[in-house]
Amino acid sequence: MNKNLRKTVIAGNWKMNMLASEVSAFADKLTGLISGYDKWCDVVICTPFVLLPTAVDAFESTGVGVGAQNMSMHESGAYTGEVSAAQLCDINAGYVIIGHSERREYYGETDKSVNEKTLAALKSPLIPIVCVGETLEQRESGITFDLVSLQTKVALLGVSKEQLKRVIIAYEPVWAIGTGKTATPEDAEEVCRAIRSVVESVYDKEAADGVSILYGGSMNDKNAFDLLSQPDIDGGLIGGASLKPDAFAVIVNAANQ
Ligand code: PEP
Repeated sequence: MNKNLRKTVIAGNWKMNMLASEVSAFADKLTGLISGYDKWCDVVICTPFVLLPTAVDAFESTGVGVGAQNMSMHESGAYTGEVSAAQLCDINAGYVIIGHSERREYYGETDKSVNEKTLAALKSPLIPIVCVGETLEQRESGITFDLVSLQTKVALLGVSKEQLKRVIIAYEPVWAIGTGKTATPEDAEEVCRAIRSVVESVYDKEAADGVSILYGGSMNDKNAFDLLSQPDIDGGLIGGASLKPDAFAVIVNAANQ
């Protein structure tokens, strides 16, 4: 397995946290702690919609990407409360998280809507970070691999091999998100490797070797190095620890291996 064939990505998910007045100090602190990061990884911060323009300004010229946490599958029109890919691109957001487990659990997102949103993002220049992962009940029932494989296949329906080069997959076991219970590096690696073989079965080895697969679920400054040293884990999607510039910087620097 050659990690050089794909990008390492450390993405923060601020969820429904932070205020516009706090963004610039966060950006200054973080960028001061991760100098040279662009030699080993891409760094992305996904903010609530209303903070995106402020974050784009604050990270301008630092190379840190800014992304949304959701988007509409529709191009435009009568969809009150929704935000389109074109609107995200218009304010220079570069990424979008799609199908986060909190969206699936609280807002009725399904594998089908995840696929529709992924296709809509790929029609624009956005880079989708597509989330998959099992609940504790599903893990304990022994269906993790079948489930994550199905989620991955459905999310990628209609995505061409060329478009796949722009897709990032995030494996996020639901039981590990925001709970402080991290998957062991071995368990996380096992599922990330399985996702890569699903990509190989749908596309080919070249596509599978090139796709970045992140782990997410209580990744922090203490456990990041071991998780990121696994051969099929190409980065992290980080919630809680992405709100603390010191901890997030440790994670970014732990990706330098
Ligand atoms: C997430 O929001 O995707 C996430 C992984 O959260 P946390 O790191 O807090 O578990």
